[in-house]
Amino acid sequence: MLVNLDYVLNLAEKGNFAIPAFNVYNMETVMGVLKAAEETKAPIIMQVYPRLMKEETGYFLSPVILAAAKRASVPVCFHLDHGPSELETTRSIRYGATGIMLDGSTLPFEENIALTKKVVETCKYVDVQVEGELGHVGTTKDAEMDEFTTAEDAKKFVEETGVACLAVAVGTAHGKYTKPPKLDIERIKAIREATNNTALVLHGGSGVPDEEIKKAVAAGIRKMNFATDICYAFLDCCLDELQKPDRTVAVDNFMKKPIDAVKDFCISRIKLVGADGKAK
Ligand SMILES: [Zn+2]
Repeated sequence: MLVNLDYVLNLAEKGNFAIPAFNVYNMETVMGVLKAAEETKAPIIMQVYPRLMKEETGYFLSPVILAAAKRASVPVCFHLDHGPSELETTRSIRYGATGIMLDGSTLPFEENIALTKKVVETCKYVDVQVEGELGHVGTTKDAEMDEFTTAEDAKKFVEETGVACLAVAVGTAHGKYTKPPKLDIERIKAIREATNNTALVLHGGSGVPDEEIKKAVAAGIRKMNFATDICYAFLDCCLDELQKPDRTVAVDNFMKKPIDAVKDFCISRIKLVGADGKAK
């Protein structure tokens, strides 16, 4: 069933686990993610980059995600990942998104608050909740990590914007790590405490050691993003299949194994964040 962001965050809060948020790119990744959620009876988020929403892909992909969510026996939230402006957030709602991320993390603090607050208020009219970002989560290619989120800033940000959840910079980055990151678990706990237990979000989950993820969830991470590793699961399997002399050329049949590779990866992450069996 298609649900909004609040619905899945509430499940995570009550059950002390994190909702896995999987980035999807095409029909096959949607199918793989959905199969994993159904098999493990897990509530999930399927999210899409604004790049895809901006291009023709979003026009075709959104109905696929909505069809999957509506047929699912488990709760599925359709979320915009890293929306940079009102243009993107409005377009995504028109496409049917039930969760929105407004990423104003590269703006000055007060401007981030003002823009996020505006989007939160608009989204309220259509019962869609908003994820904000404070403290920029950069990429693994960055020379050095940006400033980590402070508990004090997080408190002010959450109170003034009314976000449903907050992405924090506590040691992760987007992309493939050259060496495994170490997360600032104490900082996660401090931000939770300062924000009256607001649901926190960890971006850049691909490649973070399992033990670190478990500790982060125990400390209060309630949404855990996985994007890069979904791409690798899908493409590595395609490349392997292409090497085989007896490969099938019917695209639908060819895609069955890559879909299952995505499914297997997602099942492992669903279990890691404790979301298996938590669908309600
Ligand atoms: Zn991210």
